[in-house]
Amino acid sequence: MHKILRLFIVIWLTQGTSYAQYEALKPLTILISIDGFKPEYLNRGHSKTLLQLGEQGLLAKGLQSTFPSITFPNHYSIVTGLHADHHGIVNNTMYDPQIPNQVFMLSSPEAITNPKWWTEAEPIWITLSKHNKTASTLFWPGTEVSIQGKQPMDWLPYEHSMTSIQRVDKLLSWLDRPATQRADFVTLYFSEVDTVGHGFGPNSNEVNGAVQRVDDAIHRLIKGLEQMNLLKNTSLVIVSDHGMAEVPNQNQINGSQLTKQYPHLKWEWLGPLAGFQAPKEQRAEILKTLSTEPRMKCWEKSALPQSFNFGTHRRIPDIVCLADIGWTISANINNKTIPGQHGYNPNEQDMHGLLIVNGPRIKPQAIGIAQSIDVYLLLCELLSIPPHTNDASRALADLISH
Ligand code: AMP
Ligand code: ZN
Ligand code: ZN
Repeated sequence: MHKILRLFIVIWLTQGTSYAQYEALKPLTILISIDGFKPEYLNRGHSKTLLQLGEQGLLAKGLQSTFPSITFPNHYSIVTGLHADHHGIVNNTMYDPQIPNQVFMLSSPEAITNPKWWTEAEPIWITLSKHNKTASTLFWPGTEVSIQGKQPMDWLPYEHSMTSIQRVDKLLSWLDRPATQRADFVTLYFSEVDTVGHGFGPNSNEVNGAVQRVDDAIHRLIKGLEQMNLLKNTSLVIVSDHGMAEVPNQNQINGSQLTKQYPHLKWEWLGPLAGFQAPKEQRAEILKTLSTEPRMKCWEKSALPQSFNFGTHRRIPDIVCLADIGWTISANINNKTIPGQHGYNPNEQDMHGLLIVNGPRIKPQAIGIAQSIDVYLLLCELLSIPPHTNDASRALADLISH
């Protein structure tokens, strides 16, 4: 056991506080992501637990994601406080001239666990370990890979088929340990609201079912924490990485048709956010052709709007296109679209995510739209660790008491 901690316990015991009480007093910070959860889902009568946590704590009108409004870039911004340009995870799919034999894709565990993709940022669990604190992560992008030679104390390879309840039970088993072996920081990731939102659209009954199942899982977590006497010293930070927009089948932009006079071009990204590499001398002409499509905007990566904080990283293709909300850029418009999609301008209300913060240091309060990048400094504050270099503001960190 750490020397100072042992001394602290001895003083504690001699002052009449039992070890059992000490056990319960070690603060715990739990970061929960409900992928693709729109704040509007709270009003559908399937999220009693979340609403209660929001009423007793901080509830934001929405959480605006960093650009792009896509899972891996955003989750990594939340735990690094960096924009995608600075942490290097610029999309779920990436090509990198410095990693020539591999495509980064969510379906490729080899790529996701290759440290070469993850060298540019220090996620919070690494900073924590430098301050003798530990993390247990029930999934989070980046936890399956060795960064600076380190990983969280507990982690698992991503397993999509694990139910939300199973995820909670596994996490509770990691927390059911003496304080000295229990993590200071925990992550929990729920995928099913996003998966069902893609498959059936955000306004479907199926989404309501997924919202209910995740709410039940969070209720089980709270009860488990209560039983272990941990709840009163637990801070819960509940986020979602982006929202979800309905995409009617006819709302497809024919990407391959638009670039057919340039047969050497290959779309690296498709969907609401699309892009490809193009020789410098052809870019102006290509952009002119693309501008004939009124439902999307395209830029050279260096000319993307400043508010996106996106466009300097080598993994971003030369030309980047963004579809209007509810539209998608396809290679083959004969295929059916995915009914729910994200990746649009994070400014769009449909792309806003969820933010609920609940715990002993949070007063009940309703706030406006928060920025997901700022969650990082809130976490550092709750965990009492100095932040690593970051792009975040203290807007959220300053809302909690000391
Ligand atoms: P998106 O395509 O942006 O909707 O990404 C959501 C999907 O990312 C989920 O449905 C999961 O399949 C996948 N995913 C989320 N976290 C991880 C992870 N840690 N490792 C691998 N895949 C993940
Ligand atoms: Zn997502
Ligand atoms: Zn998704």
